[in-house]
Amino acid sequence: MADFEPQLTKRFNVKDGHTLKGYLATGGYESLKKLFTMKPTEVIEEVKASNLKGRGGAGFPTGMKWSFVPQNTGKPIYLAVNADEGEPGTFTDRYMLFNDPHLLLEGIICACFAINSHTAYIYVRGEFYEQIQRLNAAIDEAKKANYLGKNIQGSGFDLEIYVHRGAGAYICGEETGLLESLEGKPGKPRIKPPFPAVVGLFGCPTIINNVKTLCSVPWIIANGAKAYAALGTQESPGTHVFGLSGHVNQTGYWEMPFGMPFMDFLNNYGKGVKGGKLKAVIPGGSSCPVLTAQECEDLTLSYESMKAHGTMFGTGCGIIMNEHTDMAKVLKNLTHFYSHESCGQCTPCREGTAWEDRLLKKILNGEATAKELDLMLEVADNMEGKTICVLSSALAMPVRSFLKKFRGDFEKYLVKNTVAVPEKVQ
Ligand code: SF4
Repeated sequence: MADFEPQLTKRFNVKDGHTLKGYLATGGYESLKKLFTMKPTEVIEEVKASNLKGRGGAGFPTGMKWSFVPQNTGKPIYLAVNADEGEPGTFTDRYMLFNDPHLLLEGIICACFAINSHTAYIYVRGEFYEQIQRLNAAIDEAKKANYLGKNIQGSGFDLEIYVHRGAGAYICGEETGLLESLEGKPGKPRIKPPFPAVVGLFGCPTIINNVKTLCSVPWIIANGAKAYAALGTQESPGTHVFGLSGHVNQTGYWEMPFGMPFMDFLNNYGKGVKGGKLKAVIPGGSSCPVLTAQECEDLTLSYESMKAHGTMFGTGCGIIMNEHTDMAKVLKNLTHFYSHESCGQCTPCREGTAWEDRLLKKILNGEATAKELDLMLEVADNMEGKTICVLSSALAMPVRSFLKKFRGDFEKYLVKNTVAVPEKVQ
């Protein structure tokens, strides 16, 4: 791998790197000098040119998202930071918040300047108690040193940042569920359109960005889009904090440019599969379709490679499963999780997730035939793309991929000597 300068994790091992003193001593807030010489539209164009993609899972181009904000509505514009990090298998934003809270604040200042926002909210998962303490301390420090508040560093730009603690619902990580929750209501996703960039928080234009997305921006402003795009691959420029969990000898997270072969990542950083050969990988959070060991052979850590293999980059945190893993039991964890976390607004999601969970329970109890397996696929087909948000699809996709690629793991539980019989001849 080519040498690169860590952008996101460079202060993780710096003593007091989370304090303003430690931050300034390591180049913190340097991007603001350049930022305040630019026009907001130039900042948006620079981020567009960097091709920075949203790191929360959807991978939408950040600069383009910012450009959707209407500037002439007479309403305030808000930035909401999604620090809810609830996707199973995903665990890197919490370390960003804990180790380098000022980097997030600097990224927020850049983003708010670009979209002409003077108020930002950081929506943090409720369990991240220590991270919330550090964020609030960092905000206090930044205000005292005039990196926040009125006329930041004499630029004429004002910004206030507020930390909002979530209450533990997975669905509040969905951007419109997050907005509802910020407004003090149950976190039930909204129908789109209108999109939040136009009608968001309190009915005003709002951009919602993930933690690592914003943490990537100061480097882009300071070093330029070209330098950023020179890292990684054409479709996946820059660096990311990739994670590994499950059956690996070394779980953890590592920052590197996009594009490394997945098996090199697994073997060199994760120190190989623990307890046997590789069987399967969920590449970027539990809602991504699962991959077989064979599919991982030519996989790389990039958006385009994941897509070419029929899955998604998601959050870039892989869950590794060895050859002894019972994929039916893994999927049962997911059906239980998603049925529990469905907000219940949409019938295909509310009923579908619970139905999948009940069917799988029946299969694991040895009470099902091949008909139930096919029924799981049919239910999944009726769950995807028919609901307000993607939670329903986030279960439908794993159900289909698990059953397609590891059907034997499910069939061993079926009542003996059963075969699927077409409905019409029964
Ligand atoms: Fe709620 Fe599920 Fe509909 Fe999303 S898809 S809005 S979680 S019921």
